[in-house]
Amino acid sequence: MTGIISSDNTHHLAIPALPGFLQSDLDQCARLPSLPTVAIRVLEVAGYPDATLNDYANAIEQDPALTLRLISLANSAFYARQQTETHSCREATSRLGLDATLAAVLSFSLWRDRQSGDLIQRIWGRSIVSALAARSLAEQLCPEEASFVFTAALLQDIGMLALLAVYPKDAHDLYANTTFSHAQLSRGEHLRFGCDHSSVGSWLAAKWGVPVSLAQAISASHDEIGTQKETYLLCLRLSGPIADTWLSANPSQALATLLRQLSPVVTTPAISLSDLLKNVQSQLPLLTNLFELTVPSSHDTEALIIQAQQLLFQQTFVLNARLNAQQQELDELQQRQTELEERSRRDPLTGLSNRAWLEEQLHKRFEYCQTHDHTMSVVFIDLDHFKKLNDRFGHQTGDRVLERFGRVLGSLVREGDLAGRYGGEEFLIILPDESAKGAQRFAKRIAKRLAETPMETVDGKPLFVSVSIGIACLSDGGFGNGRELIDAADQSMYYIKRNGRGGISLYGH
Ligand code: GH3
Ligand code: MG
Ligand code: MG
Repeated sequence: MTGIISSDNTHHLAIPALPGFLQSDLDQCARLPSLPTVAIRVLEVAGYPDATLNDYANAIEQDPALTLRLISLANSAFYARQQTETHSCREATSRLGLDATLAAVLSFSLWRDRQSGDLIQRIWGRSIVSALAARSLAEQLCPEEASFVFTAALLQDIGMLALLAVYPKDAHDLYANTTFSHAQLSRGEHLRFGCDHSSVGSWLAAKWGVPVSLAQAISASHDEIGTQKETYLLCLRLSGPIADTWLSANPSQALATLLRQLSPVVTTPAISLSDLLKNVQSQLPLLTNLFELTVPSSHDTEALIIQAQQLLFQQTFVLNARLNAQQQELDELQQRQTELEERSRRDPLTGLSNRAWLEEQLHKRFEYCQTHDHTMSVVFIDLDHFKKLNDRFGHQTGDRVLERFGRVLGSLVREGDLAGRYGGEEFLIILPDESAKGAQRFAKRIAKRLAETPMETVDGKPLFVSVSIGIACLSDGGFGNGRELIDAADQSMYYIKRNGRGGISLYGH
């Protein structure tokens, strides 16, 4: 026989250390559930992929009391389909089957003699359904490990027994809350005991001396689905949630929720849910009868799946609709934000960039030119005698002139240039990668356009304006920052003002 409980597929799984206080309370607890040697031997046998009924029988026969109980179980009304009574352990295990034999051995050892309240029934019932689900999954995904997975699933919640023994009141209070999901129970355990029953169960199993791989699997049973490399762990981790849906008051709803949660993480295409549920369905009465558990209500598995799928579709539909609405809201918000940002950069009268944006962009452009050894020019424009224009034709006419001039400027700049209103009747244009000569040509085009095109018509007469233009080119001076470049262009512009207005001056020339 080759054991699958070899360390190669589980060696990276560790048995976690328990919190100090819990460890010492467990060490001192005299009422911890224990597992007789024979049960441990049976667990070992269960770990062999090719274990036979004989192997089981040989292990069980070491314990006469257990053997007797198995035989009487096999002869009980439920199993005695054959008229004949069985008298041997070999026959009894054969009649029960491997899974039921194993479950029976564990049940006799761990569960039967405990004061069986609803609580214990519930925990053990869940373990049994989990074990069936786990085996069925494993048969589909990793058949070689099916019996190991069955055993691990059956034992995955033994930590709850240990916690009930050490902290009867706390654990009982927690477990008695039937509204808690298994994940919520686990969180509750973390809060109260510093870790959950998967860690405690793993510790207990190791203490019993069960194969290490089994103890490790128990400790990994709660980890997030989808994080495991090994398929057998996927089967084990899925088994609990599947059992919960089976045992829930509203199985189709619970199944739909589970399917939705699983769809992003479980990409294994080979799982047939229908087979899985049918399998659980067919074997469950056998096992629950065996332990005199209340049989969890049996389900019409086909109908259950169809219902669950319908619910899933509805949920997805509602979810999608909600997502769409949220996305639309988000788009609108984003658009509003973009519009606001856009508006915060604009001068409302001319629609050109405002001063703040111009300065920010100039600063960035200046840095870029410094690090990449590029040049740029700025052109400073001030409308001539604008005060007089206002005084003569009125402020509104002045506004229209500014507006019109803004449009002219906008039409003369190239893509990549940035034209803006710097202040009242002052304008600034940033010309990236433009030489002084190029900037001069640009300035001349403006002057020419202004000479040809009236900016307004007053009383049927065209109103022309002239401008004074100062230019500064980065290549022409040792400018330390963008501000100095603007000042230089401004100074050049004033040079024109002082010399009669209506002209162009290049800084440093
Ligand atoms: P200069 O040729 O020396 O530049 O003379 P100027 O009159 O154009 O210059 P000054 O700086 O003395 O006056 C600028 C005028 O521009 C005064 C102000 O009322 C006017 N102004 C500033 N902003 C606006 C505006 O938004 N609309 C109007 N209509 N006028 C404005
Ligand atoms: Mg001015
Ligand atoms: Mg002016």
